[in-house]
Amino acid sequence: MKSFKTQSKRVLDLMINSIYTNKEIFLRELISNCSDAIDKLYYKGLKEGISGLTRNDFSITVIADKQNRTLTVSDNGIGMTAEELENNLGTIARSGSLAFKTENAEDIKDDDINVIGQFGVGFYSAFMIAEKIEVYSKAYGSEEANLWVSKGAEGYDIKPCEKAEHGTKIVLYVKPDTDDDKFSDYLEEYRIRSLIKKYSDYIRYPIKTEVTKYKEQSETEQKDGMPRESYVELETLNSMTPLWKKNKSEVTEEEYDGFYKDTFFDYEKPLKHVHVSVEGNVSYKAILYIPAKAPFNYYSKSYEKGLKLYTDGVLITERCADLLPDYFSFVKGVVDSELTLNISRETIQQSRQLKLIGSNIEKKIKSELLDLMKNDREKYEEFYKAFGLQLKYGIYQSYGMNRDVLIDLIMFKSVKEDKYVTLKEYISSLGEDDKFIFYGTAKTVEAVKALPQSEKILDGGKDILCFADEVDEFAIKMLGEYEGKTFKNILSEDVSSGEEDEKINLENKGVLDQIAGCLEGKVAKVKLSSSLKNRPVCLSSEGEISLEMEKVLSQMPNGAEGVKAQKVLEINPSHEILEKLKRVYLEDKDAVKDYAEILYFSARLVSGLSVEESSKTVDKIIDLISK
Ligand code: ADP
Repeated sequence: MKSFKTQSKRVLDLMINSIYTNKEIFLRELISNCSDAIDKLYYKGLKEGISGLTRNDFSITVIADKQNRTLTVSDNGIGMTAEELENNLGTIARSGSLAFKTENAEDIKDDDINVIGQFGVGFYSAFMIAEKIEVYSKAYGSEEANLWVSKGAEGYDIKPCEKAEHGTKIVLYVKPDTDDDKFSDYLEEYRIRSLIKKYSDYIRYPIKTEVTKYKEQSETEQKDGMPRESYVELETLNSMTPLWKKNKSEVTEEEYDGFYKDTFFDYEKPLKHVHVSVEGNVSYKAILYIPAKAPFNYYSKSYEKGLKLYTDGVLITERCADLLPDYFSFVKGVVDSELTLNISRETIQQSRQLKLIGSNIEKKIKSELLDLMKNDREKYEEFYKAFGLQLKYGIYQSYGMNRDVLIDLIMFKSVKEDKYVTLKEYISSLGEDDKFIFYGTAKTVEAVKALPQSEKILDGGKDILCFADEVDEFAIKMLGEYEGKTFKNILSEDVSSGEEDEKINLENKGVLDQIAGCLEGKVAKVKLSSSLKNRPVCLSSEGEISLEMEKVLSQMPNGAEGVKAQKVLEINPSHEILEKLKRVYLEDKDAVKDYAEILYFSARLVSGLSVEESSKTVDKIIDLISK
């Protein structure tokens, strides 16, 4: 069989220009290689009992030289012989690191070795920013050092060179700036520092770079306005051990909070953190946070959900959205797992692994929230005030599919007690025969109390839930019922109808029909209702669409305006207005029209519905009271 011929120039070109979307990752790749090289030597030291090779003896340095436009990345790891340079850097897609992992698979598991490389292409990403690369390397235990030089696709040379210490030094000759790319940026101290922090913060060996510092000044020097003298010093930039890899018992509350504030740019400390370490089908470590307040843009399109995803301590994505369902989009945090990455290490190859982690995280968040609800109700309510709306949207948007996850987490204010209750708590006070979970839609508990039908229900010893958010009634429609009890808007027509009113409605059928006739197309029914207590009139609704839903729908941008509630005009039989209506009806049937319109107009106003032809109706009111 013949083997495939590759055009290495083309392949290298592809490597350099096609697989990465983000040039800045070259530094992450080189530093990962350094870390691998050190790991290999550390492992050798352990295995062969060589002294002087403890973790503290190793480091990685990144040094920029602006004058010569070079960026140098060095390590004192295992280094490469001439042959290894040839094999590893002369063959694209050959990974010495993968070979190392495969050969030592059994042993390295236990020795806390963490070799990152696997595809054999990361190194070449440096050609995205460098026009020439020199690799000086001296294998551990060898007397000779070698230099590998390449300007990219044309090829490479290897020749002996001088190098005092074992390890590898990579010199990048940074490309000249173009209109599109300011490559010289990679020589700036702030840029190097931020790249190391961003991608390589948890590499387990110190990464040092030159940091400019300023000498202290005496008071007189300050007074004289002398410029402060500066000097450069090597400083370790990375935090090395990620917080999430530590044991919970080793991490203080301040450290958790500090990490949250620094990583997610929040001034306020989080409401709660959860540190998870899962081993099994899928293994990962994570720290999840529930913020104390909703970010200013939380309930808008500009908010992006997601968790920071690391693999082996190296950042893969800043915001992995697949790890969080929308209804838990408020959660912030980091996840670290050994995942199968795709070749650019910018995305994950297998979404199945992510899905597993995601569903695991979802369960974890739910159980933590339930725990909070049970053990620290005050804190839970604080959480709920910030993010409860999102949970209710979660039920609504999925047509109730997320019911099981969310139903135990939602709460409404009880009108009776003016405090939050869960649905479980509400029904716990119901008798077997009670069929309904009553709710009223209004912004506050006081406003629900003021609804005409509330009094009768509350007097009967029943509680009412206050549905204060627009989404509430829609979300509840998705649920339909809870534990066999049906949700019931107190402004439904059938709530107010009682047998006691049957007779009086029959007796007044004439005038009521006359009013209904005048309001044809506006109301479905007109009736007398003693549940109004002190109120003269109100509106209720029949069927699925409530008055509140009509209101919300009519405000939607792409108009569900046609959707109307089937309205019922209810009149209080013990109010003087009934006598007046009867008299007018007897004297002149047609004169009932003005009264009917005014009653309907007033009832709409009381219900917060928009009123049409208001000036005409107001004129009628003034006319009538002037008589
Ligand atoms: P990967 O890291 O995925 O294996 P690279 O293209 O980045 O792929 O590197 C190819 C190989 O070159 C590595 O597997 C390793 O054997 C070798 N190598 C790269 N950088 C170094 C280094 N700093 N020290 C020692 N060996 C290195």
